Amino acid sequence: MSKNNGIMKNQDYIIEITGQTHEGMGVGKIDDFAVFVAGAIAGEEVKVKVVKVLKNYSYGKLLEVITGSPNRRDPLCNVIRRCGGCQLQHMNYEGQLNFKKQVVKDALERIGGLKDVIIHDTLGMKYPWHYRNKSQLPVGISEKEIQIGFYAKRSHEMIDIDNCLIQDKIFQTAINIMKQFIKDYKISIYDENTGIGLIRHIILRKGFKTEEIMVGIVINGDGFPYAGELIEVLKQGICGLKTIVLNINKKKTNVIYGLKNKIIYGDGFIYDYIGDVKFRISLLSFFQVNPIQTKVLYDKVMEYAGLTGKETVIDAYCGIGTISLFLSRKAKKVYGVEVVEEAVVDAKENARLNGADNAEFILGEAEIEIPKLYERGVKADVIIVDPPRKGCDIRLLGVIAKMAPKKIIYVSCNPSTLARDLKYLVSEGYGVKEVQPVDLFAQTVHVEVTCKLTKVDN
Ligand code: SAH
Repeated sequence: MSKNNGIMKNQDYIIEITGQTHEGMGVGKIDDFAVFVAGAIAGEEVKVKVVKVLKNYSYGKLLEVITGSPNRRDPLCNVIRRCGGCQLQHMNYEGQLNFKKQVVKDALERIGGLKDVIIHDTLGMKYPWHYRNKSQLPVGISEKEIQIGFYAKRSHEMIDIDNCLIQDKIFQTAINIMKQFIKDYKISIYDENTGIGLIRHIILRKGFKTEEIMVGIVINGDGFPYAGELIEVLKQGICGLKTIVLNINKKKTNVIYGLKNKIIYGDGFIYDYIGDVKFRISLLSFFQVNPIQTKVLYDKVMEYAGLTGKETVIDAYCGIGTISLFLSRKAKKVYGVEVVEEAVVDAKENARLNGADNAEFILGEAEIEIPKLYERGVKADVIIVDPPRKGCDIRLLGVIAKMAPKKIIYVSCNPSTLARDLKYLVSEGYGVKEVQPVDLFAQTVHVEVTCKLTKVDN
C-alpha cells in the first residue's frame, strides 16, 4: 500500500484540525497522512473532501464544520470565498492575534532554533476594519464588464469589489468614478495576454490625518486621453483629491509599476503624519499601509532603541525616512539607507519638513552602502533593519556583526526570514531580548513583528 494509506481523491473524511500553517490553512491528518484545509481552524472537527493527493500530503475542501472553534465567526465580506485578500476573516479578532503570535513563535523555534525567547501578545487594533491607506487595483474586463478589484486566489482572474472592508471607504468612491469614466470615454483596458490596451492598474493612497488623496494610474502608453476631463471628474467626486499621477509601464510583465511617472494634477505627492512626524509620500515610495498601527510599531521601535540623545543610529531599508525621523529626535545622528530613488528624495524632504538636520539619507542598497559607512569609520550604537519579505542580505548582516552595535532592532513583515536572520545574528554574539508582533494587517495572514537584540558581552 502506498504511504498515504490509500487516501482517495474525491472521498469525504472527518478529521480533527490540530494546527494552522502560516498561510492560515488548517492542518489535520487522515490516519498519519497530512491534509491541508483552507478555512479550517485549529481545534475543530471538520468534514472535508480530499481534492488533491500528493506524495507527502493532501488538500481537502472544507464541507462542514462539525465542532467549531470558539474563534470561528462568519466572515463579513461578500467575496471572501474568491478573493485572496482576507484569509482570516472566518476567525474572530482575538483568534487572529493569537494565531499571529503562534506563527512568530513557530518560525523562531523551527527556523531560528530560538526556544526561550520572550514573545509578547500581538498588539491589535480597536477597530480592525477600513485601515488600509493604499490600494493597488488591477483593471480588467470580464463578460464585457469593466472590473476594478483584486485578483482571485492564486490566479489572475479578476474579482470586482464593491465594498472592501479593509481599505479606506473613500477608495470605493474613486473606484466607481474610474469605472464610469473608463466606460463613458471608452478607454481601452490592458490585456495581459496580448499586451494591448492602455489602463493597467489604479493606485489609491490616502493621508489618514490630512485626508489627502492620491490617484495613480498605471498605463501602457505615454499619456491619458481626456486627461482634462478625468481631472475634473475626480476633483468633483473625491473630496481631498490632491494629486493624480500616471505611471508608464509598457512592458509585458506582471510587475505593476514602470520606472517613469507623469504628474497630471497636483504635485505628485500627498502628506500624512505618524504621531506628530510629517511625511511626504510619492506614488512609488513605500509607506506602511496601516498608519494607526504603524504608530504602535514605531513607538515600540523607539522604546527598544532606548535613545538618550548621544547615539549614532543606522536605519537600513528606511523608505521615506519614517523610522529614521521618528528616532532622530532622540539621537545624535541618524543615517537612513534606501534603494528607491523617489523614496530617498521624499526622505530628504521629510527631514527638512521636520527640521531633522541630524538625519542623512543615502541612496543605494543597504548591503553595499552600509559597508561603505563602516569603512568610513562610522560607528553605530543602534542599527535598525526593516527589510522587504526576503529579509536582509547576508552582506548586510555580516557588516552589522563587524560594526557590533550595542543594539539591533529588527522590524520584519516575514517571520521566516526574520528567524533565519536572527539565527545568524545570534551566532555572531547577539541575544534576542524580546519580540513584539504588531497587527498591521488585520483579517489577513500577514504578520509584522519587531524585536530587540543586544550584544551578549555588553
Ligand atoms: N522602514 C520603512 C520602509 C520599510 S519597507 C518604513 O517603515 O516605512 C522596506 C524598504 O526597503 C522599501 O522602501 C524598499 O524600497 C527598500 N529596499 C528594498 N531592498 C533594499 C536594499 N537592498 N537596500 C536598501 N533598501 C531596500
